[in-house]
Amino acid sequence: GSRHPYADVEVISLAYRFYRELGLRQFDLLLNTIGCPGCRPAHRKALSEFLASILHLLCPDCQSRYERNPMRILDCKNESCQLQLQGAPTPVEYVCDACAEHYQGVKDGLTALGIAFTENPRLVRGLDYYTNTAFEFHSAYIGAQGAIGAGGRYDGLVESCGGPAIPGVGFGIGTERLILALEAEKVAFPPAAEVDVFLATLGAKAEQKALTLLAELRQANLVAEVDLMGRSLKAQMKQAGRLGAKYVVVIGDDEIERGVAVVRDMASGDQTEVPLSELLSQLTVE
Ligand SMILES: [Zn+2]
Ligand SMILES: [Zn+2]
Repeated sequence: GSRHPYADVEVISLAYRFYRELGLRQFDLLLNTIGCPGCRPAHRKALSEFLASILHLLCPDCQSRYERNPMRILDCKNESCQLQLQGAPTPVEYVCDACAEHYQGVKDGLTALGIAFTENPRLVRGLDYYTNTAFEFHSAYIGAQGAIGAGGRYDGLVESCGGPAIPGVGFGIGTERLILALEAEKVAFPPAAEVDVFLATLGAKAEQKALTLLAELRQANLVAEVDLMGRSLKAQMKQAGRLGAKYVVVIGDDEIERGVAVVRDMASGDQTEVPLSELLSQLTVE
């Protein structure tokens, strides 16, 4: 782990590039600093004092957060809470010199990379082990809760799990929201990976054999699929065709008895009987 602000920049730019590569364009990067255990108590004190007089006007969530983690009240998604929070003390106003310098380093690094960002002083993280940088990516097409990714620096995480004081920074992606954002921007989804081998089975023993075979094929870096819908053999062949499988391996209980499988080349239609023991080597060669 590194405390260097460019570690934050690298992680943020990784997320940024990931969204761009997917084809997403209409999204914003929100950025903030929430300070360190050294400077946070001063903010917490000021914020608690501010909140005490308006607490009765806030939503039940905010009220329950007041004792546990008042900082989280700052990014309550409730609009009436946000109105009450105008002028509330934000962490960035209370950061120590080291935290201010770190934050500046992150902003300078992002600017150098041409990654636009919006500073949002009310952006916070919910857990105590977070320090310094907080960031979120928001799609223009999803509402206030529309973060398609969020992350930050968590220098206190490893220690809070009982380990040494190792700093860290990272992010998570909201897959469902990301898909919504991609659909909203009409980004074409890439075609599914081409299927190398489809395992068609007939009978319970064959089904079990296919399960282990599937794992072996995938370990050999082949894209392999098997029927899990209880389809008839005929329907399985159709499914293999729909998936564009190059080969279909047909295994029935009878073939298992004889230690063989039927391999069908879907392009030529040729069928050959292959000993089960040679199946993997034969398919990986082709
Ligand atoms: Zn600090
Ligand atoms: Zn609230």
